[in-house]
Amino acid sequence: MLNSPSDVFMKVANLTDVRGIEIQDAPEPRVVTPNDVLIEMKRVGVCGSDIHYYTDGAIGSQIVQYPWTAGHEGAGVVTEVGADVTRVNVGDRVAFDPCISCGKCDQCVRGRRHTCRRQIFLGCPGQAPGCLGERAVLPSECCYVVPDSLTFDDAALVEPLSIAVHAVNLARSLAGLSVGILGAGPIGLCTLAVAKVDGPAQVFVTDKIDRRVDAARQGGADWAGNTDKIDVVREIAELCPLQLDVVFECTGDQDAIDQAVTLLAPGGTLLLVGIPGGHNRISMDINLLRRKEICVQNVRRQNECVDRAIDLIASGKVDIRYLLTHHFPFAQTRDAFELVAGYRDGVLKAMIELG
Ligand SMILES: [Zn+2]
Ligand SMILES: [Zn+2]
Repeated sequence: MLNSPSDVFMKVANLTDVRGIEIQDAPEPRVVTPNDVLIEMKRVGVCGSDIHYYTDGAIGSQIVQYPWTAGHEGAGVVTEVGADVTRVNVGDRVAFDPCISCGKCDQCVRGRRHTCRRQIFLGCPGQAPGCLGERAVLPSECCYVVPDSLTFDDAALVEPLSIAVHAVNLARSLAGLSVGILGAGPIGLCTLAVAKVDGPAQVFVTDKIDRRVDAARQGGADWAGNTDKIDVVREIAELCPLQLDVVFECTGDQDAIDQAVTLLAPGGTLLLVGIPGGHNRISMDINLLRRKEICVQNVRRQNECVDRAIDLIASGKVDIRYLLTHHFPFAQTRDAFELVAGYRDGVLKAMIELG
């Protein structure tokens, strides 16, 4: 499975140091087990977690050992399958779930493959190299055939969209509720798109970047504001005096976490979706949490939400193509990472094109 030793090489984009990324040779991945699927990569989206590895060399205790191939938001074409594979065929266009679970541990048996005790995640240091290269091998259960109506760009957006589907599922129904989404990066905007499908009464979105505040309006937010320019807590309180039923915190920033706790109504739910950058602890006002009896729910990637994400795009219920602000050829992967790391040029999602 995955990159087996070989004297045949393919090109991958490797992190080589903090803020270093180079196109290098890596062993050609091969179909080894009867359950393996070889995928010719067509698109890889640049994720905020890839950028954490790029700029900090780590997320929490997951520390990059160089050289390291990042990338987990991929789409491609199946070019070879193992003898037992029936789920996909050669020539199928696929999105994939980058989490490879064991299928046997207590978590997998309970339907929690995303917290599998023995999981390996594509592009996660110490686990499996990422898919930011010419080809990748995955077990068949990670592969999802996409309908012809989805482009490869759409298929590569399925992974971040599935995280939003999972977050909204964990909030249970949003129908008729007042909802906040703090952070209008790709995950926040995907969450907005999925939340809208549930029919909430109103959705408030905040960010520190005007381009993203505008994108939230474009994505259907009833109200959007820049936290650096206005007192968003006061303005939202004026528009929604009974406060918010559900807040999705999609930044990982302490300020936003504090705002979330303040914005929530008694009995409300706070979903922690964002990944804190460069530190392992956040704090919350425990008295406020206690008095309001706030439910705090962590969101770990996604669980069995890939089919639903594909359906939401294919049916037209969500349209997140406006997230695709930049495309880069594979050879310019470094430019893509620098662009996203610097939040430059109004970037929302940068997509690397391969093949
Ligand atoms: Zn991602
Ligand atoms: Zn497991």
